[in-house]
Formats: sequence, structure tokens, C-alpha cells
Amino acid sequence: MKYLDEYRDSTLAQQLSQRIHKATKHNWTIMEVCGGQTHSILQYGLEDLLPETIELLHGPGCPVCVTPLELIDKAVAIASRQDVIFCSFGDMLRVPGSQNDLLGVKAQGFDVRIVYSPLDCLAIAKNNPDKQVVFFAVGFETTAPANAMSVRQAKTLGLGNFSILTSHVTVPPVITSILQSVDNRVQAFLGPGHVCSVMGWKQYETISNHYKIPIVITGFEPTDLLEGILRCVLQLEAGEYKVENQYARAVEKEGNIAAQSIVEEVFDVSDRMWRGLGSIPKSGYKLSYDYADFDAERIFQLETISAEEPAVCISGQILRGLKKPHECPAFANMCTPETPLGATMVSSEGTCAAYYKYGRIGQTK
Ligand code: SF4
Repeated sequence: MKYLDEYRDSTLAQQLSQRIHKATKHNWTIMEVCGGQTHSILQYGLEDLLPETIELLHGPGCPVCVTPLELIDKAVAIASRQDVIFCSFGDMLRVPGSQNDLLGVKAQGFDVRIVYSPLDCLAIAKNNPDKQVVFFAVGFETTAPANAMSVRQAKTLGLGNFSILTSHVTVPPVITSILQSVDNRVQAFLGPGHVCSVMGWKQYETISNHYKIPIVITGFEPTDLLEGILRCVLQLEAGEYKVENQYARAVEKEGNIAAQSIVEEVFDVSDRMWRGLGSIPKSGYKLSYDYADFDAERIFQLETISAEEPAVCISGQILRGLKKPHECPAFANMCTPETPLGATMVSSEGTCAAYYKYGRIGQTK
């Protein structure tokens, strides 16, 4: 299949692996930011193609994983109302809250629906004027434009029974937070290809220059990832630091200006809680003043709901690259995809789930 098979070519992958081996003279730790990249690395066994001296750290770029437990509890509370139709992408339904998950709420007979676009919710709202229709707006910069579009469209249509429960986070503040932590181990980043297709990569130049760290914006296929790692290694070995764009077939430096503009219109930058990582300043979006009437947290007055993470779960340390899933005492025994204790196990892009699925149990790399 064109635009896919050539990025999974085993001969090219072997050639890139050989170039990485040849270029690597020292120990390096490189973090891939996106959950999709983590998934590909484990699915295709890319770590086995790298020298022992390169360690990949799996970063915080899985939106389901970093959605705070307390927000899942808020989603469950809203969905458990007779006057609500609660809409979500399918991957949020099994994320465990403190007492229940959205699938459990649906099983109890409440109206929880899987949608493929937030715009689908507008039709549902139009057809159900006696119900409040709430969309669970989770994600990084990639999903923010469509969610912003749904809110603007709802305002244009005068839909008073549509709102969104927002959990939008952004990548640059979290990688800055990782770099600022005293125990940081990251020496180079594989940057988030999909996020940069929307936002461009100018912000990453500021980070690269300030922290003197290589950042290579990278795609998601095996040869994308190997090439991204090679470019990181070449910079690290040469003592250089700059932003490179490996994913040029999808990413331009300026990003998608139209998408950025609707996000700026509908959302304000705000502090955000990240599951396992705590509050990070200016690391996400909230609805702006002009669109505050579409804020489900405000409509349903959920400020009092709070939640504690399970004490055993070390997902925060995993998301910062400090530990690997097999170092969690619950991994693959108490915590499995069937019985997840933390979101990094329940999401298909989560590091714990990927280690479990691809059998990297007890492996150190
Ligand atoms: S294995 Fe489960 S409990 Fe342990 S860090 Fe991963 S999600 Fe948390």
C-alpha cells in the first residue's frame, strides 16, 4: 500500500539499524513523546534493532493515560443522569474511575454513546431537545480543532443543550516540565508528529535552544522511528542540538494555521492536571469566556469531585521516563488490560498495555 509499505520496508529498517549502530559511540536515552510511537516501537520490536547503549524512554503523549482520574469521575457523574446523553470516543469508555467506568454506566441503562466525531453530537443534540448532550473532549492539540469546531457550530446553531467536558493538554509544557525535573534522564526527544501537523514546530525550537537538547519531529511507522532515532544519535554524538523534521510528509514548520485559529478562538490556555504528573502551568485548554456556556463542568457544577490515584500505580514515573512497566509491582498480575489499575494499562496507546500486549514482561530495555 503506497505511503505505508515503504515505511515498513524491512531492508530499509535494517539499513537504518546498521547506521544507528555505526553512529553510536556513547550511552544515550531518547524519549518518544507520543503513545502512538510507543505502540509502534513495541509492536515492531524496534528496540531489538538498536545498540544496547541506546535506551528508549516512553513519554506522556497518550491522551487517555494523562486524563486525571477525577475527570473520569466527573464524566461518570454526568453520564449517570437521566437527562443526559453522554458521548465519547470509544477508548475512554473502559478507563476506570474511582468507582465505575463509562461502560459500567452504560450497562446500568444510562445513555452513553460512542461517536467518531464531536460534530456527530450536534445532530444528536438537535434530535433530542429534551436532553443535555455532553461530549467528552479529551486529547492533545490534534483533537482540539475538531472539538473547538463543534462548540463554535453549536453556538452558531443556537444549540443550548450541547456542552463539552474538556480535558485538553498540550505537549510543549509537559516536555519542558520533564526537562526541568531534577531526575530528568531524557537527552533527546522524538517529537510528536501528529501534534506538529496541527501546531507546527516553532515552539520546539525554543525548547531545543533553551535546554540544548535535540528534538526530531518523527512519524509513526518503523522506518520513521528508526530515522528519527538516527538523527537524534547523530546530533548527540556531534554535541549539537536543534529541531529536525523527519515527518516532512505531514508536518510544516507553521502547522495548520486555520486549525490553530479556531482553537485560539474557542479555547484559552490554562493550567491543567495530568494524571500521574500533577498540575502543569499553562499546559492545556479551557473554554474561553465567549464559549463558557458550553462548559459541562460549569453546567453540572462538579467542582467538588476529587479523586486519589491507586497508591500502587507508578504511571507518573513511567510517563516521565523514570521507570518501566515491569518495575511496577502490580504489572501483569494485579494490573492487566482486563483489570487495569491505571490508565497506562487501559489505553491501547498506554505504555503498560503495550508492554503487556507485546510480551515485554521483565525486559529491561
Ligand atoms: S502496571 Fe498498572 S498499576 Fe502499574 S504503573 Fe502500569 S497502569 Fe499503573
